[in-house]
Amino acid sequence: MSALLQLDHVGRSYPVGGLFARGKMQAVKDLSFTLDAEKPEIFTIVGESGSGKTTTARMILGNEVPTSGAIHFLGKDVTTIRSRSDRLAFMAKVQPIFQNPFEAFNPLTTLDFYLFSTARRFLGLKARSEIDAAADKALQHVGLSLAEVRGRYSHELSGGQLQRIAVARALIPGPKLIVADEPVSMVDASLRMSIVNLFRTLRDDLGVTIIYITHDLSTAYYISDRVIIMHRGEVIEAGEARAVLGHPSQEYSRALRNAVLPPDPVAARRIINERLERRRSGLAEGAG
Ligand code: ADP
Ligand code: MG
Repeated sequence: MSALLQLDHVGRSYPVGGLFARGKMQAVKDLSFTLDAEKPEIFTIVGESGSGKTTTARMILGNEVPTSGAIHFLGKDVTTIRSRSDRLAFMAKVQPIFQNPFEAFNPLTTLDFYLFSTARRFLGLKARSEIDAAADKALQHVGLSLAEVRGRYSHELSGGQLQRIAVARALIPGPKLIVADEPVSMVDASLRMSIVNLFRTLRDDLGVTIIYITHDLSTAYYISDRVIIMHRGEVIEAGEARAVLGHPSQEYSRALRNAVLPPDPVAARRIINERLERRRSGLAEGAG
């Protein structure tokens, strides 16, 4: 297998405390997983708020440097990408989708501008007709067209439509990997499924691997190939989505749900700590 993305014992700590009580908090601890370059998949990172998901996404995107371990994309250490041209080539292959589409698009800028400037920047297109064609093609992949989007502003569209446009923009450079950090949490519940279903289409039709980050177990169960569950920076469970989210022991799946959306955090923490202890001592099998 050749690796699209490989994380080896990745950690990220941040200094905390004041002048006299300096310490470190470990936002991500010893995180390892590999995505296969030949087998596009939806790899989901599930976890409650503060579990280290965004820190992980930022490290994969090269926006944050791990304090331990290493991240390789197509065999290259992402922290050693320095030159402008190497950085641009990397960004073309690894594209982000952010949580809040209303923040991602400036309200005073028409949405087509983002598509056109991405086509110019990454594809080097200059001719008006070619730029239009690239934008339209990307929009068609998400069920829209340039005719529908041209001249429109973000306030004229719904969160769901804006996330579609964000996905279209991300597709223009021809990425191998899309890192989507809570892409549906600002989207109307009724539209969430149509956005996550889009990820499936991208996987199957375009061969794009998706890292889907969420705290929503139901969409995770529905679309993921593999899942890792993070809790306070650590992976507490990893494997095939159906095995992890389908039927682990009743008590445990309840604890996971509670850990992600806490109604009974105390019970959840106890059960999770037991699992963690077992994982650490090597008794539990991980799909890492
Ligand atoms: P999630 O996306 O799962 O909600 P984050 O990765 O954003 O979690 O954060 C994980 C932990 O790391 C949190 O406790 C957060 O406060 C901390 N953290 C994240 N970024 C920073 C930073 N730049 N400085 C200090 N602490 C941070
Ligand atoms: Mg986050």
